[in-house]
Amino acid sequence: CGIVGYIGSKQATPFLIEGLTKLEYRGYDSAGIAVLNGEKIRVEKSVGRLAALEEKIESNVPEGNIGIGHTRWATHGRPSDNNSHPHTDCYGDFAVVHNGIIENYMTLKEDLLAKGHKFLSDTDTEVLPHLLEEVYNGDFEASVREVIKRIEGSYAIVFMSKNDPDKLICTKQDNPMVIGLGDDENFIASDIPAIISRTRRTYIVNDGEVAVVKKDSVWITNSLGEPITKKVFEVNWNA
Ligand code: GLU
Repeated sequence: CGIVGYIGSKQATPFLIEGLTKLEYRGYDSAGIAVLNGEKIRVEKSVGRLAALEEKIESNVPEGNIGIGHTRWATHGRPSDNNSHPHTDCYGDFAVVHNGIIENYMTLKEDLLAKGHKFLSDTDTEVLPHLLEEVYNGDFEASVREVIKRIEGSYAIVFMSKNDPDKLICTKQDNPMVIGLGDDENFIASDIPAIISRTRRTYIVNDGEVAVVKKDSVWITNSLGEPITKKVFEVNWNA
């Protein structure tokens, strides 16, 4: 029920954990993070409190300057380690966090299973990284757009790609999402309290928009793929 993302010159994990902690008030049954470190996406997740995840990584903290995190409120698949986000494709090339429901996941899953994809969870979300792997043509942004075209439902999603370590891509439909603008770093979150201790300059993402978030730029397009210029929303309240 909460999403965070980090890309920048600092370590991702401290922000991911801090951001998820700030979103605890939304309620959740499990938590997880994925951090990209050069050639590998490392995923750590755990059912239960965030403390259980923190304990898991305490002696071996995932290192890297780009990562995503999630607190889950299960809708499809019981709360368990396997059903926790982030979810990945078979090769570990893509990691995804998602709030909401992919309504047509059954049809997509059957098609992916027939193509040989192996699923590790009972979630609707897991179709996203597999679908991305299926349509990926070397162009991360175009491939994410293709995935968005094929899904129905309500969502806030962040996509991470091992082969595209300079960006995160996020989108939303009927679920909140905000981008925090930092100095040589940028943040993604499902809600402002997650980022307010790091920056007060934000972009509020609207339904259908796709944002390509790099450490020093944010490129946003509308649902038609046309570039848009957004006003910076300054947060002037305290969480
Ligand atoms: N439908 C997804 C799941 O059950 C996401 C739930 C959420 O918003 O946390 O895993």
